[in-house]
Amino acid sequence: MTEELLGERESLGVFTYAMVGMAIVDVDSRFRCVNGAMCGALGSPERQLVGLSVLEVTDPHDRGVVADDIRRLVAGDTEVVQRDRRYLSTTGEPVCVHTSMAAVRGGSGAVEHLVMLSEDITEQRHAEHLLEASFARFEAMFDNSPVPMGLIDMGGVIRSANAAFSTLVGVESEDLAGRRLGQLIGELAESDFQVAARGHTTMVGERPLVRPDGTPGWVFVAVTCLEPVGEGDGGGGEVIVHLIDFTERRAGRDLLHHRGLHDELTGLANRHLFTQRLRESLEDRRRGDFTLTVFMVNLDHFNQVNNGLGHQSGDLVLVEAARRIHTITRITDFSARFGDDEFAVVAYDVCDDGDAFAVASQLRRRLSDPYHVAGNVIHVGLSVGFALSPADGRDADMLIQKAGIALYRAKRLSGGIAAFGAEDDGASFHNLSLVEDLRQAVASDSIDLAYQPIVGADRTVKGVEALARWQHRTQGAIPPDQFIPLAEQDHLMGELTRLVLRRAMRQHLSWLAEGLDIPSISVNVSASSLRTGVLWGLVDDALNESGLPGERLVLEITESALTDGSDPAVVANIGRLRALGVRLSIDDFGTGYSSMAYLKRLNFDELKIDRSFIIDIDSDERSVPIVRSVIQLAHSLGLRTVAEGVETGDAERILGELGCDLLQGYGICRPGQPSAVAGYVATVRQRRLSLHQRSR
Ligand code: C2E
Ligand code: CA
Ligand code: CA
Repeated sequence: MTEELLGERESLGVFTYAMVGMAIVDVDSRFRCVNGAMCGALGSPERQLVGLSVLEVTDPHDRGVVADDIRRLVAGDTEVVQRDRRYLSTTGEPVCVHTSMAAVRGGSGAVEHLVMLSEDITEQRHAEHLLEASFARFEAMFDNSPVPMGLIDMGGVIRSANAAFSTLVGVESEDLAGRRLGQLIGELAESDFQVAARGHTTMVGERPLVRPDGTPGWVFVAVTCLEPVGEGDGGGGEVIVHLIDFTERRAGRDLLHHRGLHDELTGLANRHLFTQRLRESLEDRRRGDFTLTVFMVNLDHFNQVNNGLGHQSGDLVLVEAARRIHTITRITDFSARFGDDEFAVVAYDVCDDGDAFAVASQLRRRLSDPYHVAGNVIHVGLSVGFALSPADGRDADMLIQKAGIALYRAKRLSGGIAAFGAEDDGASFHNLSLVEDLRQAVASDSIDLAYQPIVGADRTVKGVEALARWQHRTQGAIPPDQFIPLAEQDHLMGELTRLVLRRAMRQHLSWLAEGLDIPSISVNVSASSLRTGVLWGLVDDALNESGLPGERLVLEITESALTDGSDPAVVANIGRLRALGVRLSIDDFGTGYSSMAYLKRLNFDELKIDRSFIIDIDSDERSVPIVRSVIQLAHSLGLRTVAEGVETGDAERILGELGCDLLQGYGICRPGQPSAVAGYVATVRQRRLSLHQRSR
């Protein structure tokens, strides 16, 4: 019967060539015959398999169930059994198969043999395993990622969210599933989903979020997809939404932005923000009737507070002044600190000069109340200038400038208050914008120095004077006689002196490095900086920074700074400068009224006779006796003399005869570039050399 059956199947070729494994198994579980696919799966030829028990080629783990299946089939308990199981190939590799075994009964009705079909599912199983593993990896990554992530369907509904997401939004993961993402961070645009679904990451941007503690926060939102959905796939699939907590970074950025627009010390707006707000106000009110006043407020002699009590006390006074300004101005008004001791205030609906005067007086009264700082009672005076809009214009910059001009005048008035008016002519306007340009030139280190040699009677270079030069971008070279007083007026002098000292010392050192041993470098310093004591700090800093020995620096202080030489602050500051080892020179001697008696007491080293006495010494006979007596007097006090403004050979000769120690002037060498000084030194050396050779 079986042979018949087999013969029939053989003839059809089904058994032999079928793609699935087929076998006839005896009731004692041995293979009676196997087809090619079965041999292939088990890796053995038919002759080896025939006679082997099915259990012998079954993975030990599955042997029990397979034996049981065969027993039940043979016993007639069941007709067919289907099961996934593993064979053992001859190489020992497990082969996953899906098998069906059916009982075949003979004429007697008893089970004669079993027919077994088995399909190799090893590949399929492997793929399933890989998928499972990758899903497990994804899950682990998703769950444990510190980045808040949510799986969102294309309709914007959360399918699942990780722990970081749940912590960020303060909702349990289980409660998040099914909620709309939009309820937490605002709805995303459909296009964000579409782009992500096509496999691109979409940076949605910053979104506000209420944090678990109820405070407002910010997240940065990005959307990516798990597997790209094709164009025609419709709205299925899901995307991952990443939320990055941006609250602190945004706060930091806002702070930076705030800093860029505010004064750090007082927290008031800075000039930039003030101008911007003023501009907006003027713009808003352009159409209707309105009045608006810009006040500029300046604390008088404020650096005396800084110098006398230290910067910390000065800062406290400024903070308190800012607070007082704030209490006076109404909510709609705004104020700013423009720098140092200068404040600006805008007041609305101040109708005329009279009203504005009243506000200015109030500002003055409140701000000049005594300040109690670190156990000291400090009195600060102040001046206020103002300009009204529309009367004085509707342009923000113009109004600020006009209020500033009024302030300059206010400073010279006993009442300390001035409105912009007809008397503020074009000249002060010009100066004001020039001051601003100068401030920028100093801040950007764009002031240059020219150098002029100071020579002995034989023309050897004994020193060099550094002279400030300013090349204005539109107005060309502006002479120091013009810009030095501007710097003085606008508290720029300190920074300018710092710049000049630094540059001059650096240049002196670089000449030394080139082998040009010029004994000293002279720098002009302002009278006011000597009085306030700022100078000492500047010089000390510059010496420390450059490493230049103090003796190589000469400070030229104009005679007018000393007046009668009895100001105790000046005397004390000169003493402190001397302690640094620097040498001191009285500049422009003959133009001030200093009494010779003080020259000795103040311990100066050098006296520069003003060029007005020297320039015409060869033509105006009256100059000679004056210069002679100055030289004699200076010598008797132990000071060396310098004549500046030596323009001609005659002047040089006369000064030589009068015993003047040093000479400086266009007739010797004009102020110029460092290379010109080096050139001059070389020429003098060369001339002396050839004179020497000729005389031999
Ligand atoms: P000063 O200190 O009396 O400088 C000498 C001035 O005389 C310089 O003018 C120089 O160029 C000029 N000069 C030199 N030789 C002759 C000459 O033979 N004939 C004539 N007619 N003039 C001569 P400059 O450079 O224009 O400086 C003018 C003033 O500006 C200086 O007078 C000084 O008071 C001030 N200054 C220049 N640089 C600085 C600086 O860095 N700081 C300070 N505080 N003041 C400075
Ligand atoms: Ca000088
Ligand atoms: Ca001079």
